[in-house]
Formats: sequence, structure tokens, C-alpha cells
Amino acid sequence: MRVAFLGLGIMGRSMAVNLVKAGHEVAVWNRSAGKDVDGARSAAFPADAAQGAEVVWMCLSDTKAVEAVLLGPGGVEQALTAGMTIADSSTISPSATLRFAARVKARGVDYVDAPMTGSKIAAEAGSLIFMVGGDEAALARLQPLFQAMGKQVFHMGETGKGQATKLVMNLQIALIYEGFAEALTLAAKLGVDVEKLLPLVQASMVRSGVVDYKAPFILKRDFSPNFPLRLMLKDIRLALDAARESRVRLPGLEAVEEVYDVAAEEGQQDLDYAATLTLLEKWAGVEVKAVSK
Ligand code: NAP
Repeated sequence: MRVAFLGLGIMGRSMAVNLVKAGHEVAVWNRSAGKDVDGARSAAFPADAAQGAEVVWMCLSDTKAVEAVLLGPGGVEQALTAGMTIADSSTISPSATLRFAARVKARGVDYVDAPMTGSKIAAEAGSLIFMVGGDEAALARLQPLFQAMGKQVFHMGETGKGQATKLVMNLQIALIYEGFAEALTLAAKLGVDVEKLLPLVQASMVRSGVVDYKAPFILKRDFSPNFPLRLMLKDIRLALDAARESRVRLPGLEAVEEVYDVAAEEGQQDLDYAATLTLLEKWAGVEVKAVSK
């Protein structure tokens, strides 16, 4: 298929690489220069990439970025043609998604929100999991592209439901990781060996994929970004906004937002969100490490 891929960040670049590998004809664009993909045409601005494409796929930081790329100067809107499909794998506001979709649908263009789960490693391996909002026919057209980039697609309902679901998913990741990080901090203070604790956690009902993914990085003290803290904070805020709009109280997530706020103020915004552990460690005056080391 002829695909325009917009946004070559941690996730987007690997996704575009996998589209090229699968034999699709890809044009790429990224806001800052110097990012490109072998085998893809590098476009000068979003509408240039979108020119003649059957599908425009976005993977951008936040709602503001999607708005700029779709509707701003040189934006995708200028290259819309009836029958085109826009897919958005960024995590953004569900209500803004409905606004963007209405605007392009008026021009005969389908809009599918397709945020994903699975981090940098899954993006590289082509094993992302997508949660999608949009109509069946549009999803069916995107199937070969989902196959190139991911391993599973969950159709959550009409446009907007993919983004709503993504907020519900990341709310859980943020709370699970906070629980894990607080447990590790108290364990360190009480002298419990983390290397003995981890197999127990994973053998018990506390076990989780978040622990599987993050524990090896924590043991190596590697907080380089797989999922940057600034993006998790953005998702926490999106979930809290959606909760306020729908009159739902989320006291746990509000408390976690405070931890991320302080971590960001302390300059950790570009580290992985796992680095929030170091703030808890600082407050407790301990460092999580194997007792034997
Ligand atoms: P990233 O590495 O920060 O990349 C963000 C991309 O958005 C870059 O291409 C950036 O361009 C572009 N961008 C930012 N602001 C822009 C603007 N105003 N106009 C145009 N382009 C703009 O982020 P990522 O980790 O790839 O994540 C992308 C999206 O996927 C986010 O919504 C994130 O929440 C979601 N997500 C991430 C993960 C993960 O593990 N990383 C997992 C699931 C979902 P520049 O290169 O010019 O900065």
C-alpha cells in the first residue's frame, strides 16, 4: 500500500521500518530534520508525504502535535482525497480525536484511532498490540499494515474508543509500576534483597508484565527511555482530564501524578518513567540493589 508515515520518534521510526520491510511504498516525515528510513521517501512537510497516499499513519507525542500535523501549515488536511484513511497511533485526547475525525470525515476520509501498547522493543520486533476505534471497513483496509507492525488488533468500537481504552491501559501501568517501585523502596529500607524478592513477586498473585519488563532495567540502573517519563505524565493527565469530564474520581492516579510532577521538575522528563523509583529512593535515603552486590 502507499503509506505516509508521520513522526519518527522512539516508536514511529521502527514502525515505519517494518512497513518498508513488508514491501509497502512508504513516504516519511519528521518535524526535526535528520531522521529518515532506508527505502522510504523523505518528505519535506506532512502534506508532501500524504500526497497520493492511501493511508496516512501518525505516531506523534501528543494532542498538540497531531493537531499541528493534521491541520497546521503544510498539514495533511491540504492533501486529503476522498477514500483516504488516516490512522493515529499517538496517545492523545479522545475528545480531540472526535474533533479531528469529524473534520476529515467531512472530506470523505476515514479516521481510525489506533494507539498501541508494547514499548520500544515491541515496535522494533513488529509485535505491538493495537487498540482501535473506527469502522469495520476501514479496519479491514488497514489489516496489512497492522500485520507489518504488530501482533494483535483489538477493535474497541467506534472512533475515539481506541484512545479512551489506551488511557484506561496506561492508568493501570502507572499505578502498577508505582506500587512496584514503592515496594522496592520499602524492601531496600528494610534490608530485603531485591534479587530474592523478584522471583517471589513473579511466583505469587502480585506477578505482572510490568515487573517482567522493568525489573531487568532497574537491576542494571538503566533508566534510558523506552517510554519517556514526560509521555507517561501526559497520559496520566489525559486520563485525569477524561475522568473529570465524566465525573469519575481517581485518587490513586492523582497521587501518582504528583510523583511524576516532582520527577519532571527535577529534570527526569526524558528518562524512562521507571526513573520515578529514584525519587522514592531519594526520599527514603536508600538505593534498590542486590544485597550481595
Ligand atoms: P517520541 O520519541 O518523543 O517521538 C515523538 C514524535 O512526535 C517525534 O517524531 C517528534 O518530532 C514528534 N513531534 C512532537 N511534537 C511535535 C509537533 N508539535 N509537531 C510535529 N511533530 C511533533 O515519542 P514515542 O515514544 O515515539 O511515542 C509516540 C506516541 O506513542 C506518544 O503519544 C506516546 O505516548 C505513544 N506510545 C509510546 C510508547 C513507548 O513506549 N515509547 C508506547 C506506546 C505508545 P521530533 O523528532 O521533531 O521531536
